Amino acid sequence: MNPQKFFIEHALYPAMERLKGNRIRAYFQELCASAQLSPKELQQLQRQRLQTLLNVCIASVPAYKGLGITQEEIDADPFAALQKIPLLSKREFQKDPDRYLNLDFDPAARIANRTGGSTGEPLKFYMDRYSVEHYEAARWRGLSWWGITFGSRSVMIWGNPIELSTKDQRSAKFKDQVLKNRTVLSAYDLTSEKLDEYIAFLNRYQPEYLYGYATALYTFASLLLPRREKLHLRHLKAVVSTSETLHDYQRKAIEAALSCPVVNEYGARDAGILAYQCPCGQMHITAENVILEVLNPETFAPAAPGESGLVVTTDLNNLAMPRLRYLLGDTATLGQESRCCRGITLPVIAHLDGREDAIFKLPSGKLVHGNFINQLSRKCQNLAQFQLVQTDLTHAQLKLVLKDPIQRQEVDAFTQDVSSFLPGVTVEPQVVDAIAVSASGKFRYAIRSFAL
Ligand SMILES: [Zn+2]
Repeated sequence: MNPQKFFIEHALYPAMERLKGNRIRAYFQELCASAQLSPKELQQLQRQRLQTLLNVCIASVPAYKGLGITQEEIDADPFAALQKIPLLSKREFQKDPDRYLNLDFDPAARIANRTGGSTGEPLKFYMDRYSVEHYEAARWRGLSWWGITFGSRSVMIWGNPIELSTKDQRSAKFKDQVLKNRTVLSAYDLTSEKLDEYIAFLNRYQPEYLYGYATALYTFASLLLPRREKLHLRHLKAVVSTSETLHDYQRKAIEAALSCPVVNEYGARDAGILAYQCPCGQMHITAENVILEVLNPETFAPAAPGESGLVVTTDLNNLAMPRLRYLLGDTATLGQESRCCRGITLPVIAHLDGREDAIFKLPSGKLVHGNFINQLSRKCQNLAQFQLVQTDLTHAQLKLVLKDPIQRQEVDAFTQDVSSFLPGVTVEPQVVDAIAVSASGKFRYAIRSFAL
């Protein structure tokens, strides 16, 4: 075992538990046990947590006080009571976040957090320690399905170092290497020499898993592919892709370059670890921590099985600043759970369909998912990067980066192909030198910049 891992397991965690009352490992054990509950037992667990949460909300959270929901209703059927709560969009939350604070919760115990702001304004919110530790425990449970344990050595392949440079670099590096047993590498600005350096580093470091955004992992894997024979990772168990939609072609390229399974983690900074892929390929929802609904984007009724819809989350643990029926901005399709090779009985997501604002809206009112552009682009040899931004109901701008800027014959054909999916919307092509990734390093190829 490598010394850092030994230190983390046998000194750091026990010390954090003794001195700071950290309970991540205890919650991890609970989550491992509850992953095999029967549907009835799981519902009972959710019912109890939801009852507590809703009773706190109607008593002490201004946003939920005046809704006319009674304790009797909540105690009789908390699931039905939850359905009476209006959906909460990020815009609505941002208008007056303080209304969502639990006034009976000790302000000193609040933990501030914020989203990266890849889709506009960064969102500030509070959590409590109980929910933060449950998020962490849920991640470790998902990783444990792949043989990864507390302190396992990892390399984070990140899109952009900007997010990390805001902190004190030195102390961040120390914390990463000593307390987390991980090193961060940037996937972009990779030159040929730098790539050789990275390969040598990875061969020395011998991580058990790599972790990063789908596009960053994919970029790294594509560069690595021609030289993969030089890479010898003896302990690599998985590559964990997080935050963005992981497309099939990306998964295949990553698997080919790193010769190991690619695991999909579904999480959000403002909602925790929502689902984790198990070795038989199912995305199991962290149903002990969250009630996850999928709603039809036009009617807001529950989406039929197999139908893509808006993801709505109710975090069952966060009593510092509860956000009920929170529209996360993602779309997904729920699945029918089938027999799991690890005996996990948690409900499943069949497919993660990307960001809610990657859905375009036509003048007819019809909604079209932006995935189509990704499919179309694969016919074009000269296309390095693209981004379609719908600015209003009838206009969209198609930004294109060409591998060979002189060869423009594909531009018209591609624009026409894209237009054919968006009747009534004028698509205006624009050849550019580069398309910026957001500050957090995420890259988006389909964006609707107005509300549905
Ligand atoms: Zn499974």
